[in-house]
Amino acid sequence: MGTLATLCLPGDGHPAATVAVCRLLRDLERRLTVNGPPEALRHSQVEAVNAAAGRAAVALDAEVYGLVRTAVLASRRYRGSFNALIGPVVKAWRIGFADARVPAAAEVAALLELTDPDDVDLDDDSRSVWLRRPGMRLDLGAIAKGHAADRAAALYRAHGVTDGLVDLGGNVVALGRAGDGRPWRVGVQSPSAARGVTLGFLEVSDASAVTSGIYERVLEAGGRRYHHMIDPLTGHPFESDLASVTVLSPSSLQADIWATVAQRGGLVAGSAAVTAAPGIEAVFVTGERTVLATAGCREALTVTDLGYRLLDVAAD
Ligand code: ADP
Ligand code: MG
Repeated sequence: MGTLATLCLPGDGHPAATVAVCRLLRDLERRLTVNGPPEALRHSQVEAVNAAAGRAAVALDAEVYGLVRTAVLASRRYRGSFNALIGPVVKAWRIGFADARVPAAAEVAALLELTDPDDVDLDDDSRSVWLRRPGMRLDLGAIAKGHAADRAAALYRAHGVTDGLVDLGGNVVALGRAGDGRPWRVGVQSPSAARGVTLGFLEVSDASAVTSGIYERVLEAGGRRYHHMIDPLTGHPFESDLASVTVLSPSSLQADIWATVAQRGGLVAGSAAVTAAPGIEAVFVTGERTVLATAGCREALTVTDLGYRLLDVAAD
């Protein structure tokens, strides 16, 4: 999944469960990836859907179908911010890879025509997905880690593990309590500082915290910095007044979707959307060294870096 997974288990590390979780994560990556050489894509069900775009519907296993369905429905709902059909545009930029480039405006415009989530047929009975137009591409890159984190946490619970931390490169699920009996503390990265330097932390228990930042995975070209999240309306990395958003939710998948929606929305629209969404809370970090928290997670947040101002998201 292009990231480092950290599994943190108080006590003996629950080796049997942890081995099963590692196996699960590798298996999910195999079935969902859209990146890598042909042999890495051979088992990818998402890539099978993409390869058949414009030609045929592809039947998926129940889990992958459910995830694709969630992604397509969210793309229709949050049109303009989250769009899992953004694949052709993502592939043109290749941000995060060695051969990243700035595609020509005409190329981007043509590719945007292939990103309409209404051009996808979902058939629940046969669990099949049809991308109606050749060249369309599903990309679950924004939510695969969220789903995987939920699955990993559920597998730990099925093994009787009540306390642990699953961290898939910023997609965190906190199970139960940390070793000292207190809630887990999830650090909020300081956007301007080195990786691992935090501006504060969130106390989390039996919930997920997902951080979306525009400070990692960037392409520098022509004196500009481009990050890896694409505005579905322009086909370019979007502008945001937010350095990062950390979303809290019982579901890591939902938190992952909302991290993209809120980041794209920016402080005003993003915080309004999060406030209106039941079960979703968020911490917003602006480029101006201000931290804002929605009411539901204000108590859980501690800001330790005195260079940051902490404000509440206005509840109106
Ligand atoms: P972050 O960790 O910053 O939240 P993710 O790694 O979760 O970012 O998601 C970024 C990936 O999602 C991109 O590499 C791309 O594959 C895909 N993507 C880019 N823009 C969008 C978008 N607007 N909606 C959905 N997926 C996107
Ligand atoms: Mg994400």
